[in-house]
Amino acid sequence: MTSTLDHRTLYRLPWNLADNPIAWLEPTQACNLACEGCYRQNVKHHKSMDEVQADLDVFARLRNFDGVSIAGGDPLMHPELPAIVRRVTAMGRKAIINTNGLAMTRELLVELKAAGLMGLTFHVDSHQGRPGWRDKTEVEMNDLRSTFAELVASVGGLSCAFNSTVYGETLHEVPDLVDWAGRNAGIVHTMVFILYRSAAVEKFDYFAGRNQVDVGSLVYGDQKPQRTDINAREVVELIRTRIPDFAPCAYLNGTADPESFKWLLAMRVASAGNTYGWVGPKFMELTQAAYHLWSGRYMSYAAPAALSVGRSVLAGAWTMDPGVRRASLAYARAAARSPSLLLQKQHMQSILIIQPIDMMDDGADNMCDGCPDMTVHEGKLVWSCRLEEPRAFGAFVRAVPKCAAAGGSPRCADARPD
Ligand code: SF4
Repeated sequence: MTSTLDHRTLYRLPWNLADNPIAWLEPTQACNLACEGCYRQNVKHHKSMDEVQADLDVFARLRNFDGVSIAGGDPLMHPELPAIVRRVTAMGRKAIINTNGLAMTRELLVELKAAGLMGLTFHVDSHQGRPGWRDKTEVEMNDLRSTFAELVASVGGLSCAFNSTVYGETLHEVPDLVDWAGRNAGIVHTMVFILYRSAAVEKFDYFAGRNQVDVGSLVYGDQKPQRTDINAREVVELIRTRIPDFAPCAYLNGTADPESFKWLLAMRVASAGNTYGWVGPKFMELTQAAYHLWSGRYMSYAAPAALSVGRSVLAGAWTMDPGVRRASLAYARAAARSPSLLLQKQHMQSILIIQPIDMMDDGADNMCDGCPDMTVHEGKLVWSCRLEEPRAFGAFVRAVPKCAAAGGSPRCADARPD
């Protein structure tokens, strides 16, 4: 499938290495699940509070950031998670927990909110081997998503997002998940689809410096035969078979391919389970620019209250953004037919498609240009999706096409270390 999306007509999010909404903190490597798409080695090791503080100090020195994604491993495994949330909040930054939710309890959530937590992103999909949820479809997993969303809503005042890794065999269910998110826009603020990737060891040899290394030994070296090339354009076309007016508005391109959509963002306007439309690029530009003018930072997560004031936000952007105008007119027509809609809040909900690392034919890596999910390794900012490489080999690896795969091209031999 191909897509008519043209990156030049969308808003290129202005994020970069030094000025970026997000910092990615990993206080633990331990996890209580073993998701198929995970890119972190599961090791029973927690960072001490001094080590966590050292990572936060690196972020504070190197990056202008708005929020901290507290990830791992699963951060709920860390015995001092409320204290970590307090450290982030004390810096004047938003604390977001990225978790599979398995160890979440209402008591812990209340404690985390009291510590200053701003929101949660739950990773839920059908390839996690969850006790009690094995062999479920993605649609069936919506029951678990609803349980988490209702728990967060019952505590109140917290942002609630979901991550789902998309595999070849679950790709067809993406439109169902977008539908489910729309029906729950009052309590689900963001839905993220992460397209599955693994190392392409059949196509490339990998080198760390001059040494050939076995990337297949890493957690993302899994060679189960399955698609590793699902791309964001394809997902957009699939969603449009169900929701024809689905319209992404903003993106991050790739470091090697400016036409690739590495982060592709759409934002719906909805109320009472109805979607009225999708905001356009100008709305996103206004939002990011205004927030940066006001706070000096690019916006990461918006508070639920801000996402529920759709009418006033939309009125402000009416003249600038055709997507907002279309959504507002659709809402006005619906309200004329059913005036009770006027009593219900409008909500903004983000749908995000992340297309992680792609290798170009010549071995160049196409990373997210302006990667938000940079974490700390030995005092430096590094891609969290590839952290296992410097840990295992002392450096990020370089891919060189195998000579046979490259048709005997001299390019592959030239690219090899002596
Ligand atoms: S480069 Fe890797 S860590 Fe950064 S945003 Fe892309 S997938 Fe995530």
